[in-house]
Amino acid sequence: MNNQMEKAFEIIEKINAAGGTAHVVGGALRDALLNREIGDVDIATSLEPMQIIDLFEKVIPVGIEHGTVLVRYRSESFEVTTYRKEEGYEDYRHPDKVAFIRSIEEDLARRDFTINAMAMDHTKEVIDPFYGKQDLQNRVIRAVGDAEVRFKEDPLRMMRALRFCSQLKFTLEESTFQAITRLTHLLEHISIERIALEYEKLMAGKGYKKAIEICKDVGLYRYLPVFKEQPELIHHVPKAALKNFADVITFYCEYSSIFSVNDWVKQWKLSNQVKREAVQLSSAIEQFKKGEKQAWIVYKLPDPLISRLIEVGFALGYEINGEELTDEHRKLAIKDRKDLAFQAEDLLQVYKDQPKGPWIGKLLESIEYAVVTNQLPNHYQSIKEWIIEWNLPETD
Ligand code: ATP
Ligand code: MG
Repeated sequence: MNNQMEKAFEIIEKINAAGGTAHVVGGALRDALLNREIGDVDIATSLEPMQIIDLFEKVIPVGIEHGTVLVRYRSESFEVTTYRKEEGYEDYRHPDKVAFIRSIEEDLARRDFTINAMAMDHTKEVIDPFYGKQDLQNRVIRAVGDAEVRFKEDPLRMMRALRFCSQLKFTLEESTFQAITRLTHLLEHISIERIALEYEKLMAGKGYKKAIEICKDVGLYRYLPVFKEQPELIHHVPKAALKNFADVITFYCEYSSIFSVNDWVKQWKLSNQVKREAVQLSSAIEQFKKGEKQAWIVYKLPDPLISRLIEVGFALGYEINGEELTDEHRKLAIKDRKDLAFQAEDLLQVYKDQPKGPWIGKLLESIEYAVVTNQLPNHYQSIKEWIIEWNLPETD
């Protein structure tokens, strides 16, 4: 058992000693049973938030009104949530009322899918009222209870179903599939930001091809930003999973003259960082297609985006040679303009009589280009000779 799980069981024992009950629940238990690497370990408990705050030394009250606190225990964080049920889903939003309850079974019943609705206590016995283990074995995503009711309560669950299909390489159980097919339009009630988080995970999952296939079959893509206006985009399937929204945008922008990076970012309400990265990646792809020298492409791209460029290039089916590109990056003569052996003040020394102007920047860029593409060594004297011979600034 993983170290984090062991710590979680120590927390559970401490809660037991204080007269409560507690269980590991949700994704961590699911992933542990699948022998997958586990993410955060969530704990559900009969104790109320104030009791947990009293019981542990370091507790951060992250969502007391929903029954959730963050327990810091042996240098790790655990979300500890009081068993609860949710009532009054109105306008397809978050439930307007949560009630704390005493039984884990009732808490499991509010959860989305059978594989996410299991619990394990300190004896390591699995409580599995909805046969989640069996669905893990059959590799299916099945809603807990009546699928239609559950998706009407919270339509985001339809997106979640598809992202779990992708991450776990599972398929949809038939009645869950049918319910989604009927209810896709309810996605309109869900905030774009929440949809975007699930969609990004879908595109990054190992089973993304199958998940996109299901997305087409149930028609869910017709309610996703951009795709609702340019549905044919869904037929362009990346040749590899895309781990980041910026990569996804770069991929689809290659096939759309209607939606630019900017449109994607606006419609999906994404961050400026995603926008910046998508712009940089798209422009690198453009340069690559124009036959620009690889050294220049990797020089212009921030380091962390180089492996991403290789991945997007691969997803697009372009013949970008990853090894070659990484090699070019390693061998770059300079990493930044400030590494040039010849700076603006040196230029002004050579052209003492020239008034300052845009020629300085232009000339520096051509020196930079020549050095990066190995046409000119990064030495003061060589650069000086090179500009005197070839690149006299224009006089006007
Ligand atoms: P991940 O590995 O991506 O974190 P997860 O299953 O832990 O997957 P979370 O979003 O962290 O997913 O949610 C934790 C648990 O809370 C889920 O396993 C599920 O039991 C429950 N849950 C989360 N979102 C919903 C929802 N919209 N409706 C019902 N239950 C939900
Ligand atoms: Mg989780």
